[in-house]
Amino acid sequence: MEPHILELPRRVVVGRGVIDSIGSDYDIMKLPDSPLILADDTTLKIAGERVAASLSKYSPAIEMVGDSTVEEAERVSGVAENHSCIISVGGGKIIDIGKVAAFRRGIPFISVPTAPSHDGIASERASLTHGSSKASIKARPPLAIVADIAIIMSAPRRLIASGAADAISNITAVEDWRLGSVKGEYYSPYAVSLAMFSAEIVIASAGQIRERKERGIRNLVEALLTSSISMSMAGSSRPASGSEHAFSHALDSLGSRALHGEQCGVGSIMMAHLQGGDWERVRDALKKLGAPTTARGLGISDGTLIRALTMAGGLRDRHTILNERILDEEKARELARATGVIC
Ligand SMILES: [Zn+2]
Repeated sequence: MEPHILELPRRVVVGRGVIDSIGSDYDIMKLPDSPLILADDTTLKIAGERVAASLSKYSPAIEMVGDSTVEEAERVSGVAENHSCIISVGGGKIIDIGKVAAFRRGIPFISVPTAPSHDGIASERASLTHGSSKASIKARPPLAIVADIAIIMSAPRRLIASGAADAISNITAVEDWRLGSVKGEYYSPYAVSLAMFSAEIVIASAGQIRERKERGIRNLVEALLTSSISMSMAGSSRPASGSEHAFSHALDSLGSRALHGEQCGVGSIMMAHLQGGDWERVRDALKKLGAPTTARGLGISDGTLIRALTMAGGLRDRHTILNERILDEEKARELARATGVIC
């Protein structure tokens, strides 16, 4: 067998108020002076300034980050030239830019998530816009993650529900991977267990997550971390990205403005139906979380949804249920109707 290389974070700190002691985490890891903190207007106020204060003896600099584009990652990588480490303070966008810039510079990366909006927290890939499409780009997995529950609990409800939906969508991703394994693809039951554990803990905590209770948000953060680690175990995004993610990528290319996890959740309802799985359980969990379960909830037309379903199977070189059940327009419509995603 080929050797298997896992890049896992060295230090993960989860708890209330933990960003105020990021300076001592920095001491323990013996990192050099002059880190570069990335933030935007919102995350600077709620967390970035506190991170900078805690790291004051290391003379940190702060850089404001714009859109999650490849060009912006290049620009930030230039800014990071004389810095020893990149610390991203924010949601998916700022984390993605930071981990790509740190990879290009060959310096350590620290992730300080302010919202639990997807499961890329600890992964070695980032999703950035390149021209009109989204690309998955090689990035640096974090050396450390400092997840302050008090801040994450106050994140917008929609971002929280979206992150939870992303974890739930592992259910269909894992089944797609099993179908791939029947075709001879490498398959890791260990990675599958971790990915399924993430989905199940989110389903079990759905009520507490929706109410932004501390226990629920902690479970969600840990579930997203576990999901991220399942991808490191697998050496690819396989355990957390199947046909439902292909559907989400298709929607992105059609100009949908819904969030990644929201799209994957709705995709997962339909793909679970196609796989012969318990699609109602997926839908009910999403409803309980307050995540969208219909085209309308995603803010897209029925036509766009059908078009994304017919495109999804051809988007990636990865075996999924969409290779076994080809969706033409009529079949896509039937599937969306059968699951109540369109009326
Ligand atoms: Zn995802």
